Amino acid sequence: MTFKELNLIEPLLKALDEKGYTVPTPIQQQAIQPALDNRDLLGLAQTGTGKTAAFALPIIQQLYIQGVEGRKRRIQALILTPTRELAIQINESLKDYTPYTGIRHCVIFGGVKQHTQVRQLNAGVDILVATPGRLLDLMNQGIVNLSSVRHFVLDEADRMLDMGFIHDIKRLLPKLPKEKQTLFFSATMPPSIASLSRTILRNPVRVEV
Ligand code: AMP
Repeated sequence: MTFKELNLIEPLLKALDEKGYTVPTPIQQQAIQPALDNRDLLGLAQTGTGKTAAFALPIIQQLYIQGVEGRKRRIQALILTPTRELAIQINESLKDYTPYTGIRHCVIFGGVKQHTQVRQLNAGVDILVATPGRLLDLMNQGIVNLSSVRHFVLDEADRMLDMGFIHDIKRLLPKLPKEKQTLFFSATMPPSIASLSRTILRNPVRVEV
């Protein structure tokens, strides 16, 4: 199977080609089509499987197809991840995949001064990558508004719970519009994660590697 057979658009195929990616990984083969169809996903996959592209490519494509007019530089996709390192990595992947799309993205995380992040946010972004603490902080300051989010990724949900972010997540979820696509990824599926996934996913497609 090739990326072209997954119905990805030319601006993404060109970027993937330049990265030297020709064959989708198993998680990408399973996840990309349903995610492009705007279905919710329950993904069981670890880092290293190519899961970032599995959720990022369909989101970029959906935003691209909807066109720049519909975007208006409001945050339409939120990718929540537990650590600063993962957040930076995901943002780097978005940089690799978006150069021919006009889609804008940035990353926010704690432990650093906020002014550079605020400047990027104020310039307008389509996709925001965030860790929970800094996201809530900037929301409380009125700097981040999530009312236009239509695609939500919860990355490494099990680690998120292990790190004690459950309360942050529970405070965040009600701030997101009801009508949205949710892509939920976890390396493991203990009962607490299965239960969380049931509260936030709607008729999800389960993908597993
Ligand atoms: P991830 O699991 O998202 O952290 O990805 C693991 C690594 O695989 C990253 O360095 C990606 O850039 C790389 N990668 C993702 N998809 C592909 C692909 N289809 N072919 C080759 N490498 C890939």
